[in-house]
Amino acid sequence: MSGLLLPVCSIFFSFLLCLAYFTKKRLNLVENKLYSVMLIISVIDSILVTILQYLANSYAVEDVIDAISIINKVDFLLLIVFLNCILLYMLFITSDKRKNKFKLYLTIFGIIDLAVFLITLFCCDVDLIANNGNYSVEGSAIAFILGVGAFYIILTIIISLINIKKADRRFLPIVGIILMGAILMILFTLDPYLIIISISLTFFDYIMYFTIENPDVRMLEEMELAKEQAERANHAKSDFLSSMSHEIRTPLNAIVGLSEDISRFDDLPGQVKEDSKDIMDASQTLLEIVGNILDINKIESEKLEIINVKYNPKEIFDSLYKINMTRIGEKPISFKINIAPDVPYELFGDKVRVKQIINNLLSNSIKYTESGEINFNVRCINNGMVCTLIISVQDTGIGIKKEKIDKLFHKFERLDVERNTTAEGTGLGLAITKKLVDMMGGKINVQSTYGKGSIFVAQIPQRISRMNEGAKFETIVINRAHRNEEAKQILAPMLSKNKEVKETYGNKKILIVDDNALNIKVAKRALADFDLILEDCTSGQKCIDLIKGGAKYDLILMDIMMPGISGEQCLLELKKDPNFKTPVIALTADAVQGAKEKYMKSGFNDYIAKPFSRNQIKDKLDNFI
Ligand code: ADP
Repeated sequence: MSGLLLPVCSIFFSFLLCLAYFTKKRLNLVENKLYSVMLIISVIDSILVTILQYLANSYAVEDVIDAISIINKVDFLLLIVFLNCILLYMLFITSDKRKNKFKLYLTIFGIIDLAVFLITLFCCDVDLIANNGNYSVEGSAIAFILGVGAFYIILTIIISLINIKKADRRFLPIVGIILMGAILMILFTLDPYLIIISISLTFFDYIMYFTIENPDVRMLEEMELAKEQAERANHAKSDFLSSMSHEIRTPLNAIVGLSEDISRFDDLPGQVKEDSKDIMDASQTLLEIVGNILDINKIESEKLEIINVKYNPKEIFDSLYKINMTRIGEKPISFKINIAPDVPYELFGDKVRVKQIINNLLSNSIKYTESGEINFNVRCINNGMVCTLIISVQDTGIGIKKEKIDKLFHKFERLDVERNTTAEGTGLGLAITKKLVDMMGGKINVQSTYGKGSIFVAQIPQRISRMNEGAKFETIVINRAHRNEEAKQILAPMLSKNKEVKETYGNKKILIVDDNALNIKVAKRALADFDLILEDCTSGQKCIDLIKGGAKYDLILMDIMMPGISGEQCLLELKKDPNFKTPVIALTADAVQGAKEKYMKSGFNDYIAKPFSRNQIKDKLDNFI
């Protein structure tokens, strides 16, 4: 009965492996299917060999020879199918998947196996042989099957040698198994009493499981692959969004610039004036949306950087207050601002982003409040060199339902859409706000009563740069009447256009370089009120030619993205001449965070993002002329 030991062990181990493999979640790939067939063959083979050994040990040969013969033929044929699976596995992992020839291989080898099965079954014999109580088989059937097996092994080795360059990490285990299979067949031919075939098949299955076919590892690999593909797609999306935002900003520049210019004429018919103001508002909203998309895109691709500079927080709160006051329009809202006196005079932090956070909270409170009050409070906790700004924006608006508060900071999440239909928005503002606050090491909280109002509190730690005890902030409380008065004052320079009064820059000469004729027109309109001599050219090369030809300017406004020579290349070329001292300002739609620093680094004297307002351009003129 000693011949039973190995086949019984083999049943046990192959069954265990089947259990581990088939109970796990697997990928539905061709290789997995081949491996599944190999596992099932191992179990059946061990059972058949166990039965054979039992029959040979327990009964007289004459009584069981027919059964032994058939079981043996079937068993050896299973061996052929097992080798065939290894051959197909090798073919699959090395073949070009796009050509999809796998079905053809499967058909060819399926036909060969069937032919071998029929020949063995009907035309070949099996003889039982015994030696010291051990049983084995020989005869024409066994010789024929071993021959076919040898053919499969040699074929697999040839295929692996041809495709050695395409080898992936699955290659080596398969080559190892096929070589061990070859050794096994030689040993069996030399000593037919060596009953180790079934345990060897189980052993091969284990090798594959622990090297290449473990479903967990395969899943991880597939996930890794999917992640790589998703990251690639995400990159493509980021690039697309940045270039789209650039493309959108360029025509927006013309819309904002020209409508601003129109609205400043005093003698316009009321309708035209109103329409041009609406165009300005709409393009401003569009600009904010483009900015938000660009920001969320940068945050998600982890490209957004916090750029710290020294800044005066009072200036920021002031300008935010003014911008948002004009946003309230005719709504009966009293807008109050209260800034604690101990807010330091100068802080060190990302001024632009702090402004963005507060602006988002304020503009939301205005958007979602029809009447009542909006309170903008700034307090702080000063601890050593760190000042934690505590900014709260409280409104008496529509409020937020309790169960929706968790969703508030998710991107593209707009709550209560039915009630919000009049308020424009993309649902990106708070997602960006939260990410920015997190990146600065702060916190943001919200409390709200549905139908009554909300309070958003952001805590942002900033480094203290200068305390300056003298610069105290006063509490300003402004009611609606005040507000309208102030709004008029702020809007006055923007809205009144008096062509007669020219601001004096002493006929200085300015060159505008831009490949887009409409942009040149917008820049010229923005500068038209000043006594400047304006010239333009439509490419970097023309600009270089002008300067090299001896033309002198007091200032150059240079677009960046131009066909042929870019603004940056043009500046480099101009700076090769040590006598070239004209200030050059980059005038570009590339308005992402950090763009200014980038252009200053490449040698520009300043930077203006398109679309720009007349006041922005005036500020720069004051600096350089
Ligand atoms: P949106 O562009 O839609 O304003 P946000 O991310 O800024 O996007 O806000 C997400 C949603 O949160 C808004 O659509 C609105 O439903 C709600 N919300 C934000 N602020 C307030 C507020 N002050 N009062 C009431 N609801 C608000």
